[in-house]
Amino acid sequence: MSPSDYSAYLVYAIPLLGVTLWHVRSRTRREADSAEVIREVREAGLTEPPSLHPVIDPAKCCGSGACAAACPEGAIGFVAGKAVLANPSVCIGHGACAAACPVQAIALVFGTERRGVDIPMVKPSFETNVEGLFIAGELGGMGLIRKSAEQGKQAVDSIAKRARGAAPLDVVIVGAGPAGLAASLAAQDRKLRYVTLEQETDLGGSILHFPRRKIAMTAPVKLPLVGKALMNEISKEELIRFWKGVVKRFGLAVRFAERMEDISPDGAGGFRVRTTRADYHARSVLLALGRRGTPRKLGSPGEEQEKVVYRLLDPEQYRGLPVLVVGGGDSALEAAIALAAEPGTDVVLSYRGEAFSRVKPKNRKALEEAAAAGRLRVLLESTVSSIEPKHVVLKHKAREIRVANEAVLVCAGGELPTPFLKKVGILVETRHGEAA
Ligand SMILES: Cc1cc2nc3c(=O)[nH]c(=O)nc-3n(C[C@H](O)[C@H](O)[C@H](O)COP(=O)(O)OP(=O)(O)OC[C@H]3O[C@@H](n4cnc5c(N)ncnc54)[C@H](O)[C@@H]3O)c2cc1C
Ligand code: SF4
Repeated sequence: MSPSDYSAYLVYAIPLLGVTLWHVRSRTRREADSAEVIREVREAGLTEPPSLHPVIDPAKCCGSGACAAACPEGAIGFVAGKAVLANPSVCIGHGACAAACPVQAIALVFGTERRGVDIPMVKPSFETNVEGLFIAGELGGMGLIRKSAEQGKQAVDSIAKRARGAAPLDVVIVGAGPAGLAASLAAQDRKLRYVTLEQETDLGGSILHFPRRKIAMTAPVKLPLVGKALMNEISKEELIRFWKGVVKRFGLAVRFAERMEDISPDGAGGFRVRTTRADYHARSVLLALGRRGTPRKLGSPGEEQEKVVYRLLDPEQYRGLPVLVVGGGDSALEAAIALAAEPGTDVVLSYRGEAFSRVKPKNRKALEEAAAAGRLRVLLESTVSSIEPKHVVLKHKAREIRVANEAVLVCAGGELPTPFLKKVGILVETRHGEAA
């Protein structure tokens, strides 16, 4: 090889070597990061996805990383050059990963072998096997803001085709998340006689439970009366403001703090709907309940007081007050940590267990730091005996103690809607990893 051939060779070889080294380094780094995430997830026992999630075929995966780049939740990692669902519990079933995969290596499925997901059987019209009972949104299996809103509207289109009966209402819509709100707009647009029931004091559905300032990834959606709502990347707060504006502008009949408790047939093709406040009689019912369920109560004396809440809306409102948080999951820990960061707030976290076993390591660490800094007190093996106006009585191990208190936040999980669906006769199928 002549010296000029040699230098021409170097001109190509050096950049190529640089690119190869860069590629190897970034691949090693992404695999090390994934190994750390997988270790934490296993340690916390958070290995099961909540519902719809990707299954990646390693034989087809080319390791391009397109799925991980497309996933806004950071759920995908890499092992031995192949993509894996490294952090299953944060997956919300967008399907963005599957759409981005250049070699169609990703299938979206419900449930896993270990953890089944209950999916009610719904016809293309969104009617269930019980005539006149409809389901839309995440309760039907397919989540996402846009899809839920579209389904809510389509379900009302089907409901409007049912013959009007003798009942004073055409439809009771249960739930004011994206599905229930879009359904309410459609009902108003079609001049149906309707009411919308929402157990919470505010609207938004699951969106209310997003972390503060979370960017929701959604797509433009065409809403009845409103027209095309352009929301691609929008913060949780903006999204809630948008829906509040819609409710106000169109005067939607949403009854807040009213929980549907039971539905029974009226014997004439319609339904009686019993709530915590009233009874309604409607020709059809649309269940837009989502999948979070109804917050589980403690069942302690005094729980009916206004100071007892089941969701932390704004930690600032508790500034300077003594607050009791009850629960041992991530939501309880996150709430206690957020409250403890407020100046002057005296936080006690009460949990009946001996340790916080199934929580994210970052939450456990933040809790330990806050407790060590004296910003909150943790009472393990404690239960609430009674809630009094200015204090709570806790049973802590064998002792009974009184804790000064102005607010109680109960984070004891939710009662899932499946038993209710079965009770009213809706067929529910448990999926263990079958394709969506
Ligand atoms: C952390 C997180 C992040 C997410 N990020 C995104 C995202 O970026 N983009 C996206 O598109 N989707 C996202 N999602 C999913 C999206 O929020 C849901 O798919 C969507 O909100 C479902 O709408 P829905 O109306 O079917 O149900 P929900 O939003 O769950 O609303 C159901 C409503 O029904 C009410 N309800 C339930 N039972 C009763 C009862 N018995 N009586 C009266 N009311 C009742 C509930 O209080 C609730 O308000 C995310 C979800 C979570 C949890
Ligand atoms: S379905 Fe959505 S959240 Fe789940 S891994 Fe794919 S892109 Fe991420």
